[in-house]
Amino acid sequence: MKIPLAVPNLSGNEAAYLQDCIDSTFVSSVGAYVDKFERAIADVSGTEDAVVVSSGTVALQMALQGLGIGEDDLVIIPTLTFIATANAVRHTGAQVWIADVEPSTWTIDLELVREAILKETDWTEDGRRHRATGRLLRAIMPVMVMGASIDFEKVAGLAREFGLKVVVDAAAALGARVANDAPLGSADADALCYSFNGNKIVTSGGGGAVVSRDLNYLDRVRHLTTTGRVGANYDHDIVAYNHRMTNMQAAVGVAQLERLDAFLSRKREVHEVYASMAERFRCLEPFPVASTGRSIRWLSGVYYTGANLGLCDAFRSHMNEAGIDLRKFWKPIHLQLPYQGSPATRMPVADDLWLRIFPLPCSTHITDEQIAAVVSSAESFWKANDA
Ligand SMILES: *Cc1c(COP(=O)(O)O)cnc(C)c1O
Repeated sequence: MKIPLAVPNLSGNEAAYLQDCIDSTFVSSVGAYVDKFERAIADVSGTEDAVVVSSGTVALQMALQGLGIGEDDLVIIPTLTFIATANAVRHTGAQVWIADVEPSTWTIDLELVREAILKETDWTEDGRRHRATGRLLRAIMPVMVMGASIDFEKVAGLAREFGLKVVVDAAAALGARVANDAPLGSADADALCYSFNGNKIVTSGGGGAVVSRDLNYLDRVRHLTTTGRVGANYDHDIVAYNHRMTNMQAAVGVAQLERLDAFLSRKREVHEVYASMAERFRCLEPFPVASTGRSIRWLSGVYYTGANLGLCDAFRSHMNEAGIDLRKFWKPIHLQLPYQGSPATRMPVADDLWLRIFPLPCSTHITDEQIAAVVSSAESFWKANDA
């Protein structure tokens, strides 16, 4: 038996809608499914508009560039994230300032960020300037780790204090909610970005989206991603990009979104099983619960809180031998080769935490039998090693 971490569930209307694209010849970046997908994403987000693009990485980059962020700028990101968060900043010409995460939520430690900003930047006419790099601090990009909601009011408060833009990496958080159970798009942020990569909650094969409450801003982002074309002829007013999503990708995305509620509830069920397994062991904890809002459970699993870190690799091997896909989780950005030497806070939490995280199989069509097999393999290991 082989049980993968998370594979796409494509048993709905995906094939029919793809066939429709081919029959209609609308296979490229204009077509009814692109419009439908944008509409559907805006609806889920509680916004009036959304711009779909070719990947989540591009969504983040375009969101930043749409806010005028680029050369000579600095953007604060958490270290516990997928490398795309950092890459998107660098693609704009800006540099990252990397911050540690909170032990209780695994999201960016805003107290630590505030302390670092006060200590390492000065007010200038243009905003806060970072002394060591000479760059202007322009934005903060909180990451909704594994779909976990975050305290947007606190982020917005910090942003107001220092004149920063807020771009949320909500890559894997489609369907999450903010405080008062409001949809994600009502978060106090300049932009939120999703990914529709194959392993995300819904996939379009590859793709991403930017949502915002500011419709003029979204028009700018759309313009930037669609060659900066004005009018029906070949007139272009900026050096822009071709970062459009194709109608075929959107067709898959539309079919996937039809089943979002079912996907989210199956993900939650899987999370509950692993969370109750964690409760049976002293040295295991389930993935964190958000302090405000409602998280979605893109990935679920357990993490190790004991003293013997060597057990973590032993557990991974034990599971792999049983045919269960278990790999290390994201290696923090400050430890990644391209980002060594970037400005960074101290990292006591992330340095230790990332090795202890075990994302367990959680495809939406995982069977109860497969979940039971994962739990039984995990339990046989931790019964022998619970300390
Ligand atoms: C998946 C992911 C991305 C990047 O999305 P792509 O569509 O793969 O470019 C960015 N940030 C986080 C946190 C992600 O999980």
